[in-house]
Amino acid sequence: MRVIRLVHGGLPYFATWEDGETARLWTKAPWDGGTATDRFVPMARTTALPPVSPSKIVAVGRNYAAHAKELGNDVPKEPLLFLKPPSALVSHETQIELPSDSNQIEHEGEIGIVFRSRLRDADLDTARRGIFGVTCVNDVTARDLQRSDVQFTRAKGFDTFCPVGPWVESEADLDALSVMCRVNGETRQHGTVHEMAFPIPTLIAFVSRVMTIEPGDLLLTGTPAGVGPLEPGDRVEVEIPGVGILANPVVRRAARA
Ligand code: ZN
Repeated sequence: MRVIRLVHGGLPYFATWEDGETARLWTKAPWDGGTATDRFVPMARTTALPPVSPSKIVAVGRNYAAHAKELGNDVPKEPLLFLKPPSALVSHETQIELPSDSNQIEHEGEIGIVFRSRLRDADLDTARRGIFGVTCVNDVTARDLQRSDVQFTRAKGFDTFCPVGPWVESEADLDALSVMCRVNGETRQHGTVHEMAFPIPTLIAFVSRVMTIEPGDLLLTGTPAGVGPLEPGDRVEVEIPGVGILANPVVRRAARA
């Protein structure tokens, strides 16, 4: 199942992607007790939303040794957690806006995990069973601000700094996931779950000891080596084979009223 979210007739819906031309509307998110309706709508008459509406976005830093090293860091002894605000979410094909506050804004292609269950103090088996599906995420980061601030909040938290999608795939093989990031068609990053310092169930169990994970929450599992700058006019893609390709154009942020 590929879960999407869209606006149809002025109202937001969770839906399933049927064949690229048609979406099937759901009563609610499938991880929130929703069921499929018999309403099918042409995708052309809808507007895409991010496929998740999480209570929180939990992210993990330095989970691939080669990436930790490229930024001059060691792999931490325990997972390094931070949060991104849900206001940073944007959908597939929505612009990433580069604010003038930073001179070094970088892509981080990542494997995103969406949850089906509430998890607290989960063991590894429960953590794994709590996964609903997988989605592509770009953990856009103002690297200069990440270095200058003690907290990652500003560097990771600007509006549009969390592209996600195009959908949540519920049937991905969790043990064979890999992620690639391309800028203007050139591959910049590639990594697999086997290179992670902390495997996905370990990350989930660790997070669930700190904060209750809610159905629909989003976990970013870290980025492989090869992070690099985004410039206005770029087109950045995050691909997880067997899941999908998330693509976003990059623009300079205009002054806002
Ligand atoms: Zn990241």
